[in-house]
Amino acid sequence: MIDLHSHTNESDGSLTPKELIDLALRTGLEALAITDHDTFSGYEKALPLAQAAGLDLVHGIELNSRVSVNGARYAHILAYFVSHAPGSEFVSWLSETRRERAERNEKLAASLRANGVEITLADVEKKGRSLTGRPHFARVLVEKGYAKSLEDAFQRYLGEEAPSYVHRESLTTAETVALVRAGGGIPVVAHPIRLAMDRAAERAFLEEAKAAGLLGLEVYHSEHSPALQQYYLGLAHELGLLPTGGSDYHGPSVKPDIELGTGRKGNVSVPLAFLTGLRAF
Ligand code: AMP
Ligand code: ZN
Ligand code: FE
Ligand code: FE
Repeated sequence: MIDLHSHTNESDGSLTPKELIDLALRTGLEALAITDHDTFSGYEKALPLAQAAGLDLVHGIELNSRVSVNGARYAHILAYFVSHAPGSEFVSWLSETRRERAERNEKLAASLRANGVEITLADVEKKGRSLTGRPHFARVLVEKGYAKSLEDAFQRYLGEEAPSYVHRESLTTAETVALVRAGGGIPVVAHPIRLAMDRAAERAFLEEAKAAGLLGLEVYHSEHSPALQQYYLGLAHELGLLPTGGSDYHGPSVKPDIELGTGRKGNVSVPLAFLTGLRAF
């Protein structure tokens, strides 16, 4: 069993890199990718621990991208094996991205206050390490009694449909994919179900992204039903995209219903061949 999509508390997961590696070993994973949002620091902290324990730790990251130039729809891009040499074009761009995220967070705190929530960015930043994201806001909203659960906090305050929502200024999917390729990485469209497109639009989007350099599609994911996983496996094959998969594990206090390696109620099971395929590219 392998898992190519997971988060530590260096982004918005709840386990430390060490706790995640310990869990991967207890779970018996043969390989694990840490794909934190916008940072490699969880991977970097985990690497010596994984090496000492003989766990194959895969280098990854998850990036936000805009589906079209003016659109409000987003696609998450997983990037495997992209250059993380200090000073690389990719790493410089990442620090720009984190600055943009910090600006969005300031706007989001102000927008919440304008909507009657007593919250400061400092309250939220205490929850994050390398970076702060909406799940950290959600935890503070629950603690302060503004929401019943993290999901409720997204519905009422943080999600794309909520009145206080603040969008991010991300590159387009085509630009993001090209940047990953320029850094020597393998770009993959994460959890395509979240694109919330009909099948024709989704296929056209993936074809366009492939023309821009997209190499893979996340077929297995905690939010994909078994039938959908079969559909995406066929689609990846038809479009000539490498299939990947992972649980998108965020830890017990962020997404308690998702297990490392096996996803939601055992709906994820990623073959080692997917990783072999990525490495062989
Ligand atoms: P951010 O990177 O700050 O925009 O936050 C995005 C993260 O919030 C995603 O990666 C998810 O982990 C989480 N998220 C987004 N929408 C929801 C939702 N409706 N319910 C729970 N978590 C969500
Ligand atoms: Zn996340
Ligand atoms: Fe994602
Ligand atoms: Fe993720």
